[in-house]
Amino acid sequence: MMPLAVFLALVLALAPRQDPDVPILDAHNHVMPGLDPDEMVRELDRHGICRIVLMATGTPFDKRAGLTLAAFDKHPDRVILFVGLNGIRRFTPEILKSIDGLLASGKFRGMGELTLRHYPFEREALDGSTVRAGDYTLAADSPEVLEVFALAEKHGVVLTVHMETTAETIPAFRRALAKHPKAKVIWAHQTPIKTLDGAKEEHARKADPKQIAELLDRTPSLYADLSVGYETLFLKSDDRKLPEAWRTLYESRADRFVVGLDMPFLQGWKTDGYRLRLEVLREWLKQIEPGARKKIAHENAEKLFGG
Ligand SMILES: [Zn+2]
Repeated sequence: MMPLAVFLALVLALAPRQDPDVPILDAHNHVMPGLDPDEMVRELDRHGICRIVLMATGTPFDKRAGLTLAAFDKHPDRVILFVGLNGIRRFTPEILKSIDGLLASGKFRGMGELTLRHYPFEREALDGSTVRAGDYTLAADSPEVLEVFALAEKHGVVLTVHMETTAETIPAFRRALAKHPKAKVIWAHQTPIKTLDGAKEEHARKADPKQIAELLDRTPSLYADLSVGYETLFLKSDDRKLPEAWRTLYESRADRFVVGLDMPFLQGWKTDGYRLRLEVLREWLKQIEPGARKKIAHENAEKLFGG
């Protein structure tokens, strides 16, 4: 008869590389007018999501904090509050002062997305309606944006940045990170579908994981997330397989990645958007070795945002 230890070793060796689904902390998501917090939490429960970062969108800046706080008041154990920055084209002294005040309340763990370079798009949602996103350009090292980095540093909170990779954006981002080395920044949307130097299908899957690795290595306070932004437009079934270079990136810098589902439109929440996005994310996570997978799925975010 086979000794038990040998039998167990054999079972472990033959076991599939995948763990069962790990809990996920959704570190990149949005709340907007019309999204009922109870409905949102039911969706999280259905999909094994422990907590969720909420950045308010779709309403003027001064109405945003109210949306996130309402969700937090109902579900404080599930919601992580961020100050909503999507689509702010100018950080006026009034807006900066207001962000400073919100962060000083101690309730918000971060702010975002700071839309430094955001490509416009228009697409049909699952319910047949049309969703649109704007065209935003704001240099990372412009004085007003440096003020936002400074606020992240001052309050010790996370700043989530949406910035497409182009010849202009990366050098400005490097300069901003160098000026504020203690600002904890999450560079959103670092996935295999990510575009390089353009917003069309031909630019998709062209980003270089080595460039992301280099930026992470040079900036200890920089993180990145595996949320798929507008590149969902280009998603194909082949994309469920994680390319080797991206798997290596995630596994070799496993302390520096978090995940998110990024649903800025109400239509996504009212249809099957969450499940469809999560399917791809879980497929990718399954291909990452178990220790790194747990870090990326929830442990890193728990450290970043606290209990
Ligand atoms: Zn984004």
